[in-house]
Amino acid sequence: MEKIDLSFVIPAKNEQDSLEALYQEILQAVEPLKKSIEFIFIDDGSTDDTYKRLESLHQRDTRVKIIKLRGNFGKSIALQEGFNKARGSIVFTLDADLQDNPKEIPAFLRKIDEGFDLVSGWKKERHDPSLSKVLPSRILNLLTRLLTRVRIHDTNCGFKAYRREVINNLNLYGELYRFIPVLASKQNFKVGEITVEHRPRKYGETKFGWERGVKGILDLLTVVFLTDYMRRPGHFFGTLGLISFFSGFIIGAYITYLRLTTGTIQDRQPLLFLGMLLMIIGIQLISTGLLAEMITYWRQKDMKNTTDQVIAKSL
Ligand code: UDP
Ligand code: MG
Repeated sequence: MEKIDLSFVIPAKNEQDSLEALYQEILQAVEPLKKSIEFIFIDDGSTDDTYKRLESLHQRDTRVKIIKLRGNFGKSIALQEGFNKARGSIVFTLDADLQDNPKEIPAFLRKIDEGFDLVSGWKKERHDPSLSKVLPSRILNLLTRLLTRVRIHDTNCGFKAYRREVINNLNLYGELYRFIPVLASKQNFKVGEITVEHRPRKYGETKFGWERGVKGILDLLTVVFLTDYMRRPGHFFGTLGLISFFSGFIIGAYITYLRLTTGTIQDRQPLLFLGMLLMIIGIQLISTGLLAEMITYWRQKDMKNTTDQVIAKSL
């Protein structure tokens, strides 16, 4: 298989009017670099002429590849399909709506050359239509920094550059694409960021609004769990379970003591129930943790080929 320097993975849902200009701008930006390139456009269930426009690009330029999804599967799946097809040793992702400026491509490459595995764009000055979109995004980014301790300002920026090894270790679904820098950083890839220009949308409309913020919090919990506890889920459930069980146990012991010394626990029923409940919940949580550990154990055993996962080099 022929080797390629740069892949451009571009998910597009109803972006017919931006595609031609985007293609030209990228070509212009990479021309002086003298690198071999490929484009991978993913049509994520567009209902406009996106696919037709892509087809005509493909006919003009064989470096343009298209993946048409059967319907709208969302940005994570679109990106993942693009990654699966990409062959470049460095892979870029860009939004198709021209909000990202391809002029910045060389700056990303310089940062990669400094030794970073993943470089993420930071839209320091945003040009989004409303506060209802920017504010949830700011809050979510802050929470992400606090909970994951990964120092990235704008995890969700669509403009990123990856070394091949990073995308080999991503497994995107749902809304996880927004946390790619966290997922990569927790696998000990070196993650950096550069500020990028953010242009207002010229054609089409945004596919996301404020509701993204609410779902984002749930996704953040998932990410924290997947990254910090994936390899030791028993600790997560077990800690909660032990706290719950022992609180219940102490209450139970106290009630028993009352019964033995005073002979009655008449007005102590609510406390009794609370104690029982805490012990039952505790046992449930601990069992869940043990089951999760069993699954992890078998999975680890099945993964004969762990090379890509943890080894950077072996001589
Ligand atoms: N997109 C996609 N599938 C979707 C939603 C969006 O492929 O279900 C693409 C969209 O075409 C664009 C990128 O993801 O290229 C970012 O979307 P958008 O510009 O609407 O998000 P915003 O910049 O407003 O956050
Ligand atoms: Mg956009």
